[in-house]
Amino acid sequence: MASKVGTKTRSTIHEFDLIQTLHRRHSRLTSSVIRGIGDDAAVVTSEAGQWSLLTTDLLAEGVHFDLRTATMADIGFRAAAANLSDIAAMGGRPQYLLVALAIPRTGTKHHVLQLYGGMMAACRPHHVQLIGGDTSASDGGWFISVTLVGMVPPRKALFRSGARIGDPLYVTGTVGDALAGLMLLNEPPHREKNRPRTTALSARHRQFLIGRHLRPTARLAEGQWLSTHRFATSTIDISDGLSGDLRHICEESHVGVDLDLGALPLSPACRAYAASRQLDPVALALTGGEDYELLFTLSPRHQAQAERAAKLRRFRMTCIGTIRPARNGIQAIGPDGTRRPLPITSYEHFK
Ligand code: ADP
Ligand code: MG
Repeated sequence: MASKVGTKTRSTIHEFDLIQTLHRRHSRLTSSVIRGIGDDAAVVTSEAGQWSLLTTDLLAEGVHFDLRTATMADIGFRAAAANLSDIAAMGGRPQYLLVALAIPRTGTKHHVLQLYGGMMAACRPHHVQLIGGDTSASDGGWFISVTLVGMVPPRKALFRSGARIGDPLYVTGTVGDALAGLMLLNEPPHREKNRPRTTALSARHRQFLIGRHLRPTARLAEGQWLSTHRFATSTIDISDGLSGDLRHICEESHVGVDLDLGALPLSPACRAYAASRQLDPVALALTGGEDYELLFTLSPRHQAQAERAAKLRRFRMTCIGTIRPARNGIQAIGPDGTRRPLPITSYEHFK
């Protein structure tokens, strides 16, 4: 139980009843969990020699999500996906989930159960087990802190720091969709109706983009594949935007990069959205955070083999550049061959 200094007890949620319900609904545990919800700490066994991966994310209402445009289940799904994606970027397998909540006065048990429903929907395909958390009242909005524990075989973890000069740069899936989805959600509702037929976005594209924002897919199979075969020399997941996350790889690896803007994988929906709003889809792809795709470099001697293997597994990955010496900096190559330094455009808090 978290301390409750300065908060009056609320009548709608009974903490112990809530925890019991969560326990009943969501903690069916395997034998690797010695003790899950219900004691002072969870106890798990781990395979000897495996490396543990530990990651946590805090979501604050109004900063990371807006209850006017997302359901509690969407928020839960996205919170879990963000953590799953961090484990994917390390090449690991996710195992255990811990969730700390601060619940506003307007929050009900139903809200919490919806939230956990979304979280567990993202976790279930990966057999992640809920083993604990903490519950508090909030005088402000919701705060949702998700901690995920995973594992990776020793020396198989993928870092941001391994990119070498000459390595090709790749990205999974498509980029820019989640930002387009978020922008769609934030448009005034009447706007689509008043738009000329020729530039209106189809319902299918709209749904796809909103889905990519609210229900992102963590690329766990791809991350584990890159790690198992030692294909990748460096990996990061795109949570702050391609341009910002690429910068992290370059800084940690002490290298530069030529990024081929013409090669960025854009979905038909993202292109259609950009065209209908007179936006540059490449700008969406560079700045859009929360696509949760993997950005990685391959060792050149594995490139052909990795490309073939990816096809067989139906992993979509696109070569979007080449690692260069640090003095090259981060250069964007336009479709016409022009080069210019990539502007710093990723999302940062406190700015
Ligand atoms: P303590 O006072 O020791 O922190 P709590 O009453 O906070 O104990 O928690 C009791 C048990 O319920 C613990 O196993 C804890 O991990 C679990 N728990 C508490 N809140 C949550 C939550 N929001 N989600 C999942 N498990 C929770
Ligand atoms: Mg507690």
